[in-house]
Amino acid sequence: MRKEFLHFSPPSITEAEIAEVTDTLKGIWLSTGPKTKKFEEVFKNQVQCEEAFAINSCTAGLHLGLKILGIQPGDEVITTPMTFAATANVVEHLGATVVLADIDPKTLLIDPKEIEKKITPKTKAIVPVHFAGSACDMDTINDMARSRKIHVLEDAAHAFPTKYKNKMIGNTSNLCSFSFYATKNITTSEGGMLTGPEDLISKARVMGLHGMSKDAWKRFDKGGSWRYDIETPGYKYNMTDIQAALGLVQISRLSELMATRTQVFKIYQEAFLNSPFFEVNQIPENCESPYHLYILKLNLDSLKINRDQFITELSSRNIGTSVHYIPLHRHSYYANKYKWTPESFPVANQMAERILSLPLNNCMTAQDAQDVVEAVRDICTQFKR
Ligand SMILES: *Cc1c(COP(=O)(O)O)cnc(C)c1O
Repeated sequence: MRKEFLHFSPPSITEAEIAEVTDTLKGIWLSTGPKTKKFEEVFKNQVQCEEAFAINSCTAGLHLGLKILGIQPGDEVITTPMTFAATANVVEHLGATVVLADIDPKTLLIDPKEIEKKITPKTKAIVPVHFAGSACDMDTINDMARSRKIHVLEDAAHAFPTKYKNKMIGNTSNLCSFSFYATKNITTSEGGMLTGPEDLISKARVMGLHGMSKDAWKRFDKGGSWRYDIETPGYKYNMTDIQAALGLVQISRLSELMATRTQVFKIYQEAFLNSPFFEVNQIPENCESPYHLYILKLNLDSLKINRDQFITELSSRNIGTSVHYIPLHRHSYYANKYKWTPESFPVANQMAERILSLPLNNCMTAQDAQDVVEAVRDICTQFKR
């Protein structure tokens, strides 16, 4: 058994990140400035989007995106129960109604057939979540939405860098919101990026900075003007240059970080693909994943312990884990407001009892991954039915 606890998802921060942040601290731009602009440019080139707006979280991007698309009380927004609560919370912030469409048990991605069943004349937007870094069936979802003039905003928190049919997620006319939270594929500690067509992103830039007509950072620059106008009561969602400094170095290390994740993924796949004790979550063939999460779906009939006990056993073997996710309809606010029962979304509900996420992060060595494999095997042997 390993001696030290293996954390679920620590960040990989090198001397290069520390130097770039220090450089920012020694300069004059702590908030949004030249490094933020540069990070937007680099990100834009990576995902091949029309425009990119650096923001302080993916949640901010989801809120801003729906606001820009005109979502308001009375509107319905369709998303998946298998997501982090932020995806739905922002719909509530706008006074609109959350509608859930159940998932595909193989991939845990939103099922387009279920979306179709939930569309009504009030449906104004669909928010597919590229769960675990796998791309949703975007051609089907986009066709469904375009023919009915419904907007699509992609929750791409897990999906940098994901390819769908050989194109990067972000390379689309949909708005996409990415996350650089501390546990995501690259990090700025907190942070995000909203990408999309130029007209929508210009609106987002105004709405994301107080509703102010000019970028504040230009305001204080030589030749900038002190004059500004408030066009609308906007939000405060801009990224800082300290965050962008982290992001610039992280993105420059992208191939190294992805190689680390890929190595771990391959070790897991080889060990876990054909087990009687669990199934592994599948990745659709038309996408390339950054392997954001590695999920086991326990076959509870084959084990004497349940998922929660399995997690405790892993923890006692010094392996950190997590669960993605407690589905939305099982959180008290949503269950009470929408009168959802656990059975309202049967696939998500069943999966929720079986899933756990193993460590898969930018710091792991092959030995760490082997330690996880050994611990999982040990538990299965000890508790097989
Ligand atoms: C992390 C996450 C978010 C929120 O991202 P933040 O940058 O922390 O706001 C939204 N959706 C999903 C699916 C996430 O995993």
